[in-house]
Amino acid sequence: MNAEWYLLAVLFALLIGLMVGKAWERYKLRGGRWIDRRRLRETPHYMLGLNFLVDSQVDQAIEELTQAASTDTDALEIQMILGNLYREKGQVGRAVNVHQALLQRPDLTTLEHAYVLLCLGLDFRHGGFVDRALEAFQEVLVLDPRNRYALVNLQKLYEDQHQWTEALRVREQVARIDAGRHPDDQQILGFLRNEIGSAQQRAGDTAAAARTFDDAIDVDARTVPAYLNLGDVRERQGNLTAAVETWERLIEAVPEHAYFAFDRLERAYGTLGAPQRFVALCERLIARDPQGWRPRLALSRHLSAAGQYRAAFDRLLEALPHHPHGLAIHQEIWEALAALGFEPGLIRRYVELTREAVFYLDPHVCRRCRYRSAELLWQCPQCHEWNTFIEERIARVKDAPTAQLESLEP
Ligand SMILES: [Zn+2]
Repeated sequence: MNAEWYLLAVLFALLIGLMVGKAWERYKLRGGRWIDRRRLRETPHYMLGLNFLVDSQVDQAIEELTQAASTDTDALEIQMILGNLYREKGQVGRAVNVHQALLQRPDLTTLEHAYVLLCLGLDFRHGGFVDRALEAFQEVLVLDPRNRYALVNLQKLYEDQHQWTEALRVREQVARIDAGRHPDDQQILGFLRNEIGSAQQRAGDTAAAARTFDDAIDVDARTVPAYLNLGDVRERQGNLTAAVETWERLIEAVPEHAYFAFDRLERAYGTLGAPQRFVALCERLIARDPQGWRPRLALSRHLSAAGQYRAAFDRLLEALPHHPHGLAIHQEIWEALAALGFEPGLIRRYVELTREAVFYLDPHVCRRCRYRSAELLWQCPQCHEWNTFIEERIARVKDAPTAQLESLEP
């Protein structure tokens, strides 16, 4: 009897233990108040809100998450997301209010504190409050010195203000954190140094500018504008030979962007009394990349300037199949045709080649945000990323991969 009673007592204790465990799992003590963590999941608003968020339906996401937040007013992450959504909608004041209210909570962990400050920094940056944004990101870094997101935002803020030295210092911190895992780091460090050099050049400190451009090339040998600027400095210092050497180094290091040095080299070779060096350079580049249309265009311009219109015209027709949409080539062809008296045989050759061409005025596009530009830009004016532009080429209709589609048709 005693044994039975004892067994019952043990079973009862076990049951109580299970119930307490369950309750503990379900309720958490927060701020001296028991709250039910499962209540959020019992309303559809939280899930719906997250789904709308993934689907980029901002208004519906705000509506559902606001409902969810009224169920559990303590849920930090929902308030944080709501604030971010207000910012995305352009309601910066409201976003700031939400995030600042979160900062008042006494029970924030260091991580939560840093994250709310980061959101606040983004609000201020979005609203154009530069100083307050700077302050917020710096505060994040006090709490979390290796916060890459805060560092990158700080860098962009300094770039917006053309404070290139500060931007470089911050990016160097990012590069140290990345420790070689982020291939863009060197490239960005190169471009930032180039901007510092340009500022020194504008301020008249030519010697310092030359050293900085050299540094930029050392950091990343593909920093195209640094070669151009260094050559310009050498030329201004009266050393045209050194300038030519620098621009030729650009061509060796970044052959696909050789054309940036064309105008400078053509002029310099002429001044040095050796214009044939430009012809030789173009021929060399054409031999190296038979698809390249820019050396052909440059060569044809050089030949036209020397009055050799027929040779120029032939070069242009060679360039055209490699870039049938290039407006610059077509314009040059018409110039040559005019100089050659609109010979009917030449016009027929041209029309034959251009039958399927589509004209394009803006062949450069940002890989990141698809911003279009007529020229290659080193920093995108829309997403502010460095060196993201590629030249867009469209294949001719008959070159497009339509064979499969055709085979499906009856
Ligand atoms: Zn972009």
